[in-house]
Amino acid sequence: MYIGNHLSSSKGFEHMGKEALKLGANTFAFFTRNPRGGAAKELSEDDAKKLLALMEEHQFGKLVAHAPYTMNVCAEKENVRSFSREMLADDLVRMEYLPNNYYNFHPGSHVGQGAEQGIELIADALNAALKPEQQTTVLLETMAGKGSEVGRNFEELKAILDRVTLSDKVGVCFDTCHVWDAGYDIVHDLDGVLQKFDEIIGLNRLYAVHFNDSMNDCGSHKDRHQKIGEGKIGADALLAVANHPLLAGRPFILETPNDDEGYAREIAMVRKYCL
Ligand code: FE
Ligand code: FE
Ligand code: ZN
Repeated sequence: MYIGNHLSSSKGFEHMGKEALKLGANTFAFFTRNPRGGAAKELSEDDAKKLLALMEEHQFGKLVAHAPYTMNVCAEKENVRSFSREMLADDLVRMEYLPNNYYNFHPGSHVGQGAEQGIELIADALNAALKPEQQTTVLLETMAGKGSEVGRNFEELKAILDRVTLSDKVGVCFDTCHVWDAGYDIVHDLDGVLQKFDEIIGLNRLYAVHFNDSMNDCGSHKDRHQKIGEGKIGADALLAVANHPLLAGRPFILETPNDDEGYAREIAMVRKYCL
């Protein structure tokens, strides 16, 4: 299976590939720029090519880049919205240095405008940013539903996807902690949750998994990640997700509170129990 964690991009692309190998990973996630916002650094085409060669040599799965948390394309304030749109467009240009990978973002928070308006603004932003020739697939992350987050259920994600013209350029990243916190009981009814996802969105549009335990109960709308097996979802239920035939082949990204040693341990543990 393809499993990895978030790596720091401060030393460049190839460095991340080498770090991933050290941890036993064969995919990884990285922030396209400082997660709290700010300017993106210069990219080196040569460095990107070295990573692509390393990925091919070691048969990596697709990478799952993550947009900065400050990006909110459905913000109420016009200036935040336009800044976020610029970041999105710029990040997609940068992602083309690493063709055929994923770029995941939090759909956004509507901050009182209502989910419907949020959905319209997010779809507008995607329609403005996506290019027919781009080789990156953009993923909407399933959200826990804290505050005014859009994407708190499968229906909201589907509503965004339906409004995007270049529909083959967009999909979903399934975050186990967020889905659980949103109220989908993957502990007692994983098959039912995946069936619901399939009916509403289609499992063919589920491209990646964020693989996390949760500190809180199902439906808590909290979004606090926990180490695999130390939270309310638990190891058995999470390993059932990792082993589920309908999710086979997707990159699984750990976003658990760990240091390198902890990530290496979790990756080894998941590999031991999964195909
Ligand atoms: Fe995220
Ligand atoms: Fe996530
Ligand atoms: Zn989260």
